[in-house]
Order: sequence, then structure tokens, then C-alpha cells
Amino acid sequence: MSAFPATRLRRLRRTDALRSLVRETRLDLDAFVMPLFVAPEPLRNDELPALSRFTVEELVAEAGELVRLGVKAVLLFGIPEDKDEDATGAWEDDGIVQQALRTLRQEHPGLVLVTDVCLCEYTSHGHCGVLRDGEVVNDETLELLVRTAVSHVDAGADAVAPSDMMDGRVGAIREALPETPIVSYAAKYASAFYGPFREAAGSAPSSGDRKGYQMDPANAREALRECELDLAEGADVLMVKPALPYLDVIRAVRERFDCPVAAYNVSGEYAMVKAAGARGHLDERQAALESLTAISRAGADLIVSYWTKDLAAWL
Ligand SMILES: [Zn+2]
Repeated sequence: MSAFPATRLRRLRRTDALRSLVRETRLDLDAFVMPLFVAPEPLRNDELPALSRFTVEELVAEAGELVRLGVKAVLLFGIPEDKDEDATGAWEDDGIVQQALRTLRQEHPGLVLVTDVCLCEYTSHGHCGVLRDGEVVNDETLELLVRTAVSHVDAGADAVAPSDMMDGRVGAIREALPETPIVSYAAKYASAFYGPFREAAGSAPSSGDRKGYQMDPANAREALRECELDLAEGADVLMVKPALPYLDVIRAVRERFDCPVAAYNVSGEYAMVKAAGARGHLDERQAALESLTAISRAGADLIVSYWTKDLAAWL
């Protein structure tokens, strides 16, 4: 018997063409969603360009560029002129997201418009729901979330994505919008990786934290319960957020449920690679592609990522 191995896995790694022939996971731009922030005033972010704020007018131009690059879907976040206790800016007819939707719908009819449905960008206290005696109250919040989702659909949204983590919100929205796809942030963790987003969206809570409604990072089984509930309430897509620190959760959701699974490659994941790339510690493009491949390999069918626009150029 030969002293050398008969099975040599290196045989298929010899050239780039051979490697690509047997590649198990491929990134497809069609599966990516670009988050966009719309505000009354623009705010450029030079370090983290994907976290810049656009006016409605600029947003139309940016969306046009995305469409030209082949991006199929965007996820809209709004920053209102004024914030109040009732998050009026979230659900009023001429709110910033509603204005953006009407214009985008007209200018880019083929682009899939998904909207984030939450109150934290619109409340004066920055929490995702109505605050009573320092507590975010669940059922009163549901009414405002439903109002917000309905106003988005009236203005042209293709799908709504509730991110608040109140109990029963998918069911409440489903009742009001039987025909609209709901992309549920089903397993959204109280994560330290949302920092740059909160700055971009101006949604940091002025007191306390979100641990009373977002999930404990230590829990994976609970994520499956959240997913099960959301599906039963009528969700069409289940999302795990963040992505990279929760690849095991993405995998578990993928194995348990047969609906599309989404993952949100959050601002902190993007910022870490950007910062390390800017300092020369690693190559941003390589690290980004590896990150996105890992999220896809874990089982995500669609990926919300701040690299979506870059990815369009890279692929
Ligand atoms: Zn929120």
C-alpha cells in the first residue's frame, strides 16, 4: 500500500476555474437588499458611506444608481423633522418615508421597496414603542405599528419589515394588510453591533436600553419560538439580526422552517471591516465577500447588507 493519500482534496483546489466549478455557495446580487436612510436634511458619512442620509430627491438618484447596478431591493428607514411621544412622523400621511415611497414608486417602479416598521426613529425618547412610566408598553404600541405599516403600503411599499420586537405585531399587521408580504425581524437581538446605525438613524434611546423587548444574545432556542410565533401570525420571511455573531441561529432557523430566511448584516459588522480596512489591517473587499458568503452558507436566502452597492460592482 502506498504511503501517500488516495484522497487528495487539494486536487480540486489547484486553479481558480476548478475551484469555482465545485463552489458550494455563490453570492447572487438578486438576494441582496440595500438599506437606505431618508431625512429632511442630508448627512454624509465619509467613513461609512452606506450609512449616509439622503433627502428624498437624493434618494431617487441613489436608487437610480442602484437599479443601474442591478440591485433589486431596498430597505427604507426614515429620520423625521420632529419627534414626539406618539411617533407621529412614523405614520402620518406626509411622513418622510411616505414621501420617499411615493416618489420612488413613481421613478423606479421595478425596484422592490421594503420599509422598516418601527417607532424608535420617531419617538422623542428613542424607544421602539410607547413609553409609560419608563416601560415600553406592548399593546398600545401595536396600534401605532399597524398604522405605520398601513401608511407605508398606501404610499407604495411592496413589503413591510417590523423590527420593534413587540409581541403580536406580525398578527396585528397581518390583520390590517392581508395581501402585503411581511418580512419579520423575528429574532432580533439586543446587540452591541447596532452603534453606527443608531447614529445614522438618530434612534439611540435617551434612557435605558432595549433589553426589555429585543432578545438576549445568549438564547437560540428562544429565537425558534419567536420564529414559530411570527410564522403562525402570518409572516412571510423570517429575519435574524445581527448576522455574523448569530450564524448558528440562521442555520437553526433555516433547518426548522421552510419559509425564506433573511439575515441582517448590521452596521457594526460593516463598520468593523471598514475600520480595519482603512487602517490596513485587512482587505475590505475580501473580508466583506467572506462575511457575506458565510451568512449565505449558514442558510440565509436574502441578506440585508450595507455592502450591497459595493457588491454590485464587485460581482
Ligand atoms: Zn426600533
